[in-house]
Amino acid sequence: MGRERVGLYPGTFDPITEGHLDIISRATRLVDKLVIGVAVNRDKGPLFTTEERVAMVRAELTHLELNSATVEIKPFENLLMHFAMQQNATMIIRGLRAVSDFEYEFQMVGMNVRLNPAIETVFLMANDRYQFIASRLVKEIARLGGDVSKFVSPRVEQALLARFGRTARSEVKPAAAE
Ligand code: ADP
Repeated sequence: MGRERVGLYPGTFDPITEGHLDIISRATRLVDKLVIGVAVNRDKGPLFTTEERVAMVRAELTHLELNSATVEIKPFENLLMHFAMQQNATMIIRGLRAVSDFEYEFQMVGMNVRLNPAIETVFLMANDRYQFIASRLVKEIARLGGDVSKFVSPRVEQALLARFGRTARSEVKPAAAE
């Protein structure tokens, strides 16, 4: 039997969006085991704690097509390439949205390939339905009271509403008609 093919999908997932979920589901077609690496990323000042982000990812997986791959969720704080090696990953999976992600990813690959040429970075083109979804904008919209239901699951939407001290939209009474 050949060796198990392990892929690592790293991100901040603050919070996990439909765009991330699409990449996860598609990535499970490429590997036997997918490790979702949740970057602690203290510098970025995430809205949700690492534990909350891990729990949100876990909750979403029960609703996702995982193509019989094994999926593990692990927080990490060390260098991505070191974490990938610890996980025996042979590929790092990234999502690529239009032009916005390209420059950063291009640089990252350039550096990472020098750190460990045996680990390939594999890019999955963002689904056109989710092309414009970014965690940063989702947080901004939720903070200002906008509707994020098209960008995240109902569970993540609830978590965002709770974080910003709002009630679910369905519970908000419409403005009086008179
Ligand atoms: P990071 O801090 O590593 O950028 P993110 O959580 O923002 O973490 O993103 C993790 C990965 O998911 C990145 O490869 C990013 O390009 C990809 N990604 C984010 N949003 C989308 C989306 N809407 N569609 C496809 N890929 C996405």
